Amino acid sequence: MKPLFPLLLSSALVCSPLESMAAVDLILHNAKVYTAEPGQPLQQAVAVENGKVLAVGSDSEVLRLKQPSTRVLDLGGKVLMPGFIDSHSHAIKGGLQLGQVYLDGQQLSIAELEQRLREGMKSGKAWQGDALLVSGLPSASWSDLKAFKRFNQGEWASQPIVFLGWDQHTGWANRAMLARAGVDAARVKALKPEERDTIGHDEDGQPDGFLAEAGLYSVLDKMPKVTDQQLLDAARAAIHYYQSLGVTAWMDPTANDAPGHTLTNQSVGVLPIYKALAQQNQLDAHVAALLVADAKATPADLDELDKVRRQFLDVPNLTLPGIKVFADGVPEFPAQSAAMLEPYKNSHKHGELLTDPAHFGELVNAADARGWLVHIHAIGDRAVRESLNGIEQARKARDSGVPHSITHLQMVNPQDFPRFKTLDVIASMQLYWAAADDLTNDLVQPYISAMAYQYQYPARSLLKNGATIAGASDWPVTTPEPWKAIYQAVSRTGPKGVLNADEVIDRETMFQAYTLNAARAIRLEDRIGSLKPGKQADMIVLDRDVLQVEPEALRDTQVLRTFFAGREVFNRKI
Ligand SMILES: [Zn+2]
Repeated sequence: MKPLFPLLLSSALVCSPLESMAAVDLILHNAKVYTAEPGQPLQQAVAVENGKVLAVGSDSEVLRLKQPSTRVLDLGGKVLMPGFIDSHSHAIKGGLQLGQVYLDGQQLSIAELEQRLREGMKSGKAWQGDALLVSGLPSASWSDLKAFKRFNQGEWASQPIVFLGWDQHTGWANRAMLARAGVDAARVKALKPEERDTIGHDEDGQPDGFLAEAGLYSVLDKMPKVTDQQLLDAARAAIHYYQSLGVTAWMDPTANDAPGHTLTNQSVGVLPIYKALAQQNQLDAHVAALLVADAKATPADLDELDKVRRQFLDVPNLTLPGIKVFADGVPEFPAQSAAMLEPYKNSHKHGELLTDPAHFGELVNAADARGWLVHIHAIGDRAVRESLNGIEQARKARDSGVPHSITHLQMVNPQDFPRFKTLDVIASMQLYWAAADDLTNDLVQPYISAMAYQYQYPARSLLKNGATIAGASDWPVTTPEPWKAIYQAVSRTGPKGVLNADEVIDRETMFQAYTLNAARAIRLEDRIGSLKPGKQADMIVLDRDVLQVEPEALRDTQVLRTFFAGREVFNRKI
């Protein structure tokens, strides 16, 4: 295999001007240093002073800075990179999920599902207060709702149970749980026509347990509340897990939301949890927390969100760079709430565009005028187009340089590819999803146009048109492991084949996506995202030469050490 990178053409030592007066705390040498600085060849060594990168260069150049108190680590030729940045992760929810019964999209028979529920009752992992919760069910589960009737009978009849779909937009609740949430035939009848599909029901209007979107959230709201202590523990678990994966920063796109709480303009969500951790010096990661704004929020609503924001402005390692807006839902059958240009073939409906195209631009413009970034959930090609239209309005008003982004981007119409560059919109992509599997082939492909199917997760098309791609996971929807996503991006291979091989992108693009590009997406590119003098020394050491190994070997890459601000926060051997 041809080397993908020049094998070490060390340039002159890159050093901060304060070098002469620095006390060098740490030197990592005999490494292949991928700095993520565009165009810079591999380097050999990094010196760290006071939590920041002091110098990057050849071994001889950097080792010259060594002082008696300097910790010197010989990395034995291993790859050293900047810490990874996840540009879309519900990390505290992810931490909660680590302690729950989670199926990770695995299809089980009803008997197996019942078995998992029983095990979860014994271990305690299935209990949420007095209710039972199993999450991560594949969307295909909802094709056979009759099978779930078992959980309305016998020992389960009076026990509230919720099964939550992999996509977190769909689920099933048994009658005991529906009764607690007040979901009955009368409630179904009271739904507006466009809301009918959010609570599954038979011809008489009797709920069958299936729930989507607003219907689901109305039931989840009636689950026993997750306690602050559980959220704190979840946040700690998330940080430790992320450190083991080499992730040292993330965007939490829904930080004013907390599991089981109703979201309002005054909600503080999990922000107090991040603050409490920071006060205990345990927030060893950068968190860029966004506040969810309603898709139809007015510029005046931003004043309310600003009051929330102001309560958390001086928390170390926490930034509040902007807002998140949902432009649509998900495309999988039967939810089909992603907003499409062409209607779904079965229902002839276009999905649900949550924004109001006539006014959405005013919201983006108002946020941009405040210097806030807008991060938009858009999955269907219509939602993507309307998101771009909204951002266009702000770009026409001023050249703010604020890094707005669209995340998910499952379906993008080719006409919109060039607009990411012209409007300077970052594509925050969960490329772990770019695979031919049950979801894309069975629950999406039959219902959308051939062209929409072809341009799913169109990474290469966007790249060719000059877009900036930032890496993202959407944990806990799927795994937060960056190397799995990197492998998917370079292979697009799944259980049902390759999802449009023309959209494969190269590994170096993905390295940039998870470092410097994601740093820009969370507006911290001046502080993190590359190994450059003056930036924080967030670094990872890898177990294999990710610059050279075969693509398949990227998937199982292990992080050996993670440094946050020059301090070792994870070591696989210890
Ligand atoms: Zn998300």
